Amino acid sequence: MPTAQTPVAIVTGAARGIGAATAMRLAADGYAVAVLDLDESDANDIVNNIIHTTGRAAIAVGADVSDESSVEKAITQIADSLGSPTVLVNNAGILRDNLLFKMSADDWDSVIRVHLRGAFLMSKAAQRFMIGQPYGRIINVSSTSALGNRGQANYSAAKAGIQGFTKTLAIELGKFGITVNAVAPGFVETDMTAATAERVGMTFEAFKAASIAEIPVGRVGQPEDIAAAVSFFASKDAGYVSGQVLYVAGGPGQ
Ligand code: NAD
Repeated sequence: MPTAQTPVAIVTGAARGIGAATAMRLAADGYAVAVLDLDESDANDIVNNIIHTTGRAAIAVGADVSDESSVEKAITQIADSLGSPTVLVNNAGILRDNLLFKMSADDWDSVIRVHLRGAFLMSKAAQRFMIGQPYGRIINVSSTSALGNRGQANYSAAKAGIQGFTKTLAIELGKFGITVNAVAPGFVETDMTAATAERVGMTFEAFKAASIAEIPVGRVGQPEDIAAAVSFFASKDAGYVSGQVLYVAGGPGQ
């Protein structure tokens, strides 16, 4: 790390699920953490948990990653209260699943905006600080859906886009000591997959059981499985790994 100060990590969409587990993990790894989500009050529980269990500094930040002025405000707030960010995890995400012929243009735009525009705006804002250090780690959350998934034309396009975005930033930012990698989770037990089960008319237990039948390690993923992969990419030791996509799916993906 460039200074003796506690390094600062930002995790987007960190009020719950994979983002919350990642925020907890990075705090345990020694980072002060900005827990960013749409509504600041939703992030308070994770912030309190981090402070009590790890003793690290943490703040709740309310921001919409797809809104440029909201992102600028958030980055300034984080830099002012915790210091310059060295790690950014672009995790915020939404689903608006439907078969192509039923998918509205709004559902297409919303998903592309949050995942792709959001990762773009956050990365652009954070790299300004990283370049000056010069050190940084950007980790983007993709998905096995990048390989194609029925009912997810918008989401799979966004998650495949995240992979191209990751490789391009790795090329542009490498000379500033910044690595950029992606984690591509398979099925992870969160509110997002619970909502998918509800949408397809299955109980979450039945939905998980059907998924497990297709997963080589014989279980669904937990948010901590993804957080562990993010932790590796965020580490100083991973400095020669950049532009990579790591599938964390209990098997090769699809
Ligand atoms: P989740 O729905 O539980 O959490 C997503 C979080 O992102 C929520 O707290 C939500 O408020 C926040 N968010 C949404 N839009 C936002 C915005 N515009 N600005 C800021 N925050 C916003 O989802 P999860 O399952 O924890 O997924 C986290 C990431 O992992 C997503 O990018 C998702 O696409 C990806 N992913 C999840 C799975 C899975 O099986 N759960 C698999 C592959 C990839």
